[in-house]
Amino acid sequence: MAAPVSPSSSLRPSLRSGVPLRDFTTWKVGGEAEWFAEPAAGAELLALLRWRLEAGLPLQCLGAGSNLLIADSGLAGLTLCLRRLQGSRFDAQEGWVEAEAGEPIPTLARKAARAGLSGLEWAVGIPGTVGGAAVMNAGAQGGCTADCLHSLQVLDPARPDQPFTLAASELGFAYRHSRLQQDPLVVLSARFRLEPGHDPAAVTARTSANLHSRTSTQPYQQPSCGSVFRNPEPLKAGRLIEDLGLKGLSIGGAQVSPLHANFIVNTGNATAADIAALIAVVQERVEAAHQLRLHPEVKRLGF
Ligand SMILES: Cc1cc2nc3c(=O)[nH]c(=O)nc-3n(C[C@H](O)[C@H](O)[C@H](O)COP(=O)(O)OP(=O)(O)OC[C@H]3O[C@@H](n4cnc5c(N)ncnc54)[C@H](O)[C@@H]3O)c2cc1C
Repeated sequence: MAAPVSPSSSLRPSLRSGVPLRDFTTWKVGGEAEWFAEPAAGAELLALLRWRLEAGLPLQCLGAGSNLLIADSGLAGLTLCLRRLQGSRFDAQEGWVEAEAGEPIPTLARKAARAGLSGLEWAVGIPGTVGGAAVMNAGAQGGCTADCLHSLQVLDPARPDQPFTLAASELGFAYRHSRLQQDPLVVLSARFRLEPGHDPAAVTARTSANLHSRTSTQPYQQPSCGSVFRNPEPLKAGRLIEDLGLKGLSIGGAQVSPLHANFIVNTGNATAADIAALIAVVQERVEAAHQLRLHPEVKRLGF
């Protein structure tokens, strides 16, 4: 892709062009980012956002890329991967936890358990960041982000110098949804309220049990994006797909997982187009059988 604007020399260490985004998604697919950076500190993020504003480029944010299907043609403008913005602070007496946007949510769950804080045990098997969990209202095993999130520190990329706080009640949380899926705000950090005073060994045991039950029933060893479709509650997308005999169905290198029918795995050489085509076929088959349209949970970028 052509580079429309030259970054200043101070940005050159962090900013790169033509970066393959398959290296930044758990599906291991996706074309190149026109411009790409992984800021490790707030000041670096701010400088990148100011440059992108001056250059008039589109902006995309990635966390761990564990819920993203990025087009084979790649992404125009600036792609920021925020997973290096890590760190967390705990007030074990009161139950307050503050975490940077790039902190892995399983790491946070483990640290909370060790501090005797209960409320994040469900999060241990979700391979995303705190920022991505807030945007997606990630959840598992009966818990979700909205249950324990107090507030977010965010910024509007159109006014990057003015970060502000959004209370959880302002985030429009619903099943795998927050208003951040429509509003292009950048999540900087999150404040959680957990339950203090628990036995660390007991919370750790519950957390480990949750991880074990997932890794034994889901294809964690193959590149995927977790559940592809939202559950059409009270029905389960995986059950509908499995009952139609679609486990193992393949297009190119994309396959409906033989282990869990709501997962599409990359068997080695999948393209984003293969995965998108397989998603469409599954939707058509389910709709033909049940007059019900499955809606993807994964976010598409660049299509
Ligand atoms: C094996 C596997 C199992 C999974 N299991 C579950 C599960 O049980 N439950 C569940 O809910 N999900 C699950 N997922 C999906 C995924 O891990 C979650 O949706 C996770 O919350 C995504 O976080 P992320 O950091 O990877 O976000 P990404 O996938 O990088 O991004 C997701 C969305 O958030 C936005 N975003 C990310 N970070 C920021 C930020 N700092 N500021 C602004 N926007 C941002 C992106 O632009 C995008 O729109 C699974 C995925 C895999 C691969």
